[in-house]
Amino acid sequence: MKDILLQMAAASSFLLLFQWRLNQSHITRRNLRCSDDYAFLAIACALSLVLCSLLSGNLFGIIHFNWGILPAFIGMLYGSFRSRALLAVMLPVCTYVFSYPVTQSHVLLDSGILMYPLLFGMANRFKLGTVVEKIAMLWIVLAPSMLFIALTSLFDGNDFSRLQDEKNALILCMLFLNPLFGGALIYMLESAWDKREIEEFIANMSEKFRREIDDLQQITDMVPLSIISVDDNCRITSINETSMKKLEIEIPHITRTDVLNCTLFDLVHQLKLNDNQDLDHLLDSIILKQRFMGKVTCLGKVLYVLAAPLVPKEQGQQAGMVLIIQDMTEEENIRSELGHVERLTLVGQMAAGITHEIRNPMAVVRGFLQLMREKSPSDMESYYRIVMDELDRANSIINDFLSLAQSGLSSKEDSNLHDVIEELAPLLWADANLRGQSVELRLCDKLPVLRLNIKEIKQLVLNLGRNAMEAMEPKGVLTLETRCVSEKVELLVKDTGSGMSDIELEKLFVPFFTTKEQGTGLGLPLCLSIVERHGGSIAVDSHQGAGTVFTVSFPYEKQEKEAIVC
Ligand code: ADP
Ligand code: MG
Repeated sequence: MKDILLQMAAASSFLLLFQWRLNQSHITRRNLRCSDDYAFLAIACALSLVLCSLLSGNLFGIIHFNWGILPAFIGMLYGSFRSRALLAVMLPVCTYVFSYPVTQSHVLLDSGILMYPLLFGMANRFKLGTVVEKIAMLWIVLAPSMLFIALTSLFDGNDFSRLQDEKNALILCMLFLNPLFGGALIYMLESAWDKREIEEFIANMSEKFRREIDDLQQITDMVPLSIISVDDNCRITSINETSMKKLEIEIPHITRTDVLNCTLFDLVHQLKLNDNQDLDHLLDSIILKQRFMGKVTCLGKVLYVLAAPLVPKEQGQQAGMVLIIQDMTEEENIRSELGHVERLTLVGQMAAGITHEIRNPMAVVRGFLQLMREKSPSDMESYYRIVMDELDRANSIINDFLSLAQSGLSSKEDSNLHDVIEELAPLLWADANLRGQSVELRLCDKLPVLRLNIKEIKQLVLNLGRNAMEAMEPKGVLTLETRCVSEKVELLVKDTGSGMSDIELEKLFVPFFTTKEQGTGLGLPLCLSIVERHGGSIAVDSHQGAGTVFTVSFPYEKQEKEAIVC
């Protein structure tokens, strides 16, 4: 009995070794035909074979008792061709070395050599078979081998009848026990392998799942939308980074853990968002698990909220809700501003139309006034002069206003800025002379041809020049300078006048802003609209008491650059 137990332990020792190996390795390569695991199994079987052989002996002096054939056959069936060949050599060698007495029949029949062709033939199919098929295949090679071992005893001339019936039964049992034990070993081996594979599958799945959750969290964190999910009890289950940043502005030091520990209602309470109808409507929808899509105004922000119930994976299972919130405050502001601008444009267009129509009756009034003036007594002359001056002033305001309201399109032609300035110079000199001031021209050598609307540019230069003269005392100097800087042509209108305060500078270019008694406040807005129509810009540098410099920049294109004129 002791021998049987020892052999059983030795024959199954490879299983322990293999289980240890399975626990060590992280990746099961069972499906590879020549995997490391199969090679290891063959080596473990070889060791088991040696152990069985070392512990072998004669049962009742009749049968040579060595179960090494069991691990050897299992190793040969599972192993690669090389390990199969190694075991095929080792088995007869071990049988030869350890059995006593050694006869030819021992080596031939005890070692199972006769089953080798079958073994080698089945080995490849064995690996692909189910557990039952594998056990069956093992039995096919093991059962005849056991029979041969019994026959060996007969060939050795042993008389079984001499043994007691119990011992015969034990030997027969042992012959059947071996294949049965082999089947059990294969079953255990396959179960251990399956278990390991399932463990690894679960580990891989949970790793994949964890990675996917991480990715999803990163994606939701990157989205510029606030995303919050809640469970059935409105407890917050997840919140993205955008939402956290928005929350931190309202509730400093709040952490993600704090948020995940409270319900949506706690959060609304903390944000002090009471008495808000839109919000109440949203919260009602969330409680009733209904879809909500609409605008919610709270904390001075316009939010577009989509709340939708999550679809449960299984019937009867609750899945909570997800809230996607988009902050549309800026867009709403821009939209309302655009509406405002549209209304203003309409009013401007109407005003321009009306102003244009006023000019005709005014011309008629002026004409008749002129006639009446000629026929009236001379003491009325001063009154007529005042009325006509005022009519002229009204007309100039109307002209400025109409120029300002002019559309962005104006006809331009290739022209030289210097020509325009030189044409205006006598007019400016005359004006300056009257005021006791002087005009200086500092025109650069070469200037590219620009596409200009000459009428408008003349208006621009005159407006800027007049403003400069009006800001200067007698003896003041107005300087008109041109220069060519990188891709721009610059016109500088400098004066040595009073300059402007910061408040005045802020309001500059605002229509109707004027500091003059007779001013219209339309000169600079008109200049700005002219320059913008030419794709340019105006910069102002002014210091109180030190004078002002208006720098008008005109961009020019490559073709213009090539056509340089003096
Ligand atoms: P207006 O000349 O009819 O007052 P503008 O639009 O031409 O209207 O000018 C607006 C205001 O800008 C002026 O009233 C004046 O206060 C200021 N301003 C314009 N140009 C100058 C300048 N060169 N120096 C000082 N102030 C200026
Ligand atoms: Mg002016």
